[in-house]
Amino acid sequence: MIRQKVLILGGGFGGLNAAKALKKANVDILLIDKSNHHLFQPLLYQVATAVLSPGDIAFPLREILAKQANVTVLLADITSINKIDKNVVAANGDVYAYDYLILAVGASHSYFGHPEWEQFAPGLKTLPDALCIREKILLSYERAERCENPIEAEKFMRFVIIGAGPTGVEMAGAIAEIAHKSLVNNFRKIKPERTKIYLIEGMDQILPSFPKDLADKGQKALEKLGVDILLNTRVNEMSENGVWIGDQFLEASTIIWAAGNQASSLLKSLDVPLDRSLRVIVNPDLSIPDHPEIFVIGDAACSYNKDGNSLPGIAPVAIQQGNYVANLINQDPSLPRKPFVYFDKGMMATIGKAKAIAMVGKWKFSGLLAWLAWSFIHIVFLISFASRFLVMAEWMILYFSNQRRIRLITSLVKDKDQPLHAVNSKDQQDSHQPPHYDHEKY
Ligand SMILES: Cc1cc2nc3c(=O)[nH]c(=O)nc-3n(C[C@H](O)[C@H](O)[C@H](O)COP(=O)(O)OP(=O)(O)OC[C@H]3O[C@@H](n4cnc5c(N)ncnc54)[C@H](O)[C@@H]3O)c2cc1C
Repeated sequence: MIRQKVLILGGGFGGLNAAKALKKANVDILLIDKSNHHLFQPLLYQVATAVLSPGDIAFPLREILAKQANVTVLLADITSINKIDKNVVAANGDVYAYDYLILAVGASHSYFGHPEWEQFAPGLKTLPDALCIREKILLSYERAERCENPIEAEKFMRFVIIGAGPTGVEMAGAIAEIAHKSLVNNFRKIKPERTKIYLIEGMDQILPSFPKDLADKGQKALEKLGVDILLNTRVNEMSENGVWIGDQFLEASTIIWAAGNQASSLLKSLDVPLDRSLRVIVNPDLSIPDHPEIFVIGDAACSYNKDGNSLPGIAPVAIQQGNYVANLINQDPSLPRKPFVYFDKGMMATIGKAKAIAMVGKWKFSGLLAWLAWSFIHIVFLISFASRFLVMAEWMILYFSNQRRIRLITSLVKDKDQPLHAVNSKDQQDSHQPPHYDHEKY
């Protein structure tokens, strides 16, 4: 019997699990990714906040799959999909044919119709993103220390995080701990404890996907760490020097985007219905209309649970979908396909060093217990034994000494010396000065 060619695009949670679940199948698998590693995104914020090194959370795909003889791994950026010819095309023109195609290409940031904001407010999706944010944070303090004028210095110690989902909350908590714990006594002129962190959220609670009572606990914990939370607040413009909220200007040297996601633009070449986040609206078996041989999984897919709500873009969904699709490919093709059913194991978000909130079924808990559960689960899901050990060691160091050891500035971000307001593009456009945000008021 001719071996079927299974092409998997993306070696993230969905694609990698699909490949592994096909280990014993009588198929040839080609796994293509534009990066050479599998990235454990849930701990990316710890790279961005100088706790972990990139190598602690990223693993070479070749190494992970080295012992699986039916998989070939290729590094390539795929730019289009031909459903009719059953092939995909890479940026360099190379063409790869398939019998089955699994699209697990994840998502990127959405700036809600303002792609120009990306240059001012990097998001957190990849290792380069995390390293860029880490450098921006560290550089802000270096620039503050160089200032003769303490008022000017404080501008460099102001951080704005847009979006209070899990990533925004984790970043805000971690920056607060950098300021209040890790950097104390490291500078001679500035007091990092005077750092201002603003977490801006358009909805009426942080962590909108969590029940209100749990989210409120998270909010209290963040406020205790010194984070200013602005709910029901939307940013309508931004520049290198801060953000506009209505007609008020909130000056800040570091802006981080944690607000919106959109699926990969590659999916448009499928020419099938997409949802608002550009995810493919898939059939109950995760295939696309009229093409039972093409599956879309993970963050790239819009699929529904039993209640008719679309499934969230989280790792367990991608993992379960990867396993499900692998089973379908491996089953007798004459058998009917049972629809994908997501088994919800719960949600967690961490707020600072030893606090988290968690919900497992109807059971809600918070504080240290939730943080221990969070830590355990993240360690278990890390892909290599060495990483589990290294991450645990770094967490111990952080827990007992507050030290963030990976505070490296390697010139990824331009270190500018101009005063903040001199490069304020909006100021240059209008002579009218927007009213400044009243920091004392909030
Ligand atoms: C900062 C952050 C924190 C998160 N925290 C959590 C958490 O705590 N818990 C949780 O459950 N989930 C969390 N998530 C979400 C979770 O990581 C995603 O839901 C999950 O990674 C989705 O898996 P995926 O396989 O669909 O995509 P991904 O894991 O994103 O993998 C997509 C892969 O496709 C590759 N790719 C993309 N385009 C192309 C192309 N054109 N050609 C070739 N390769 C391509 C990419 O390089 C990537 O390797 C977090 C996400 C982020 C960004």
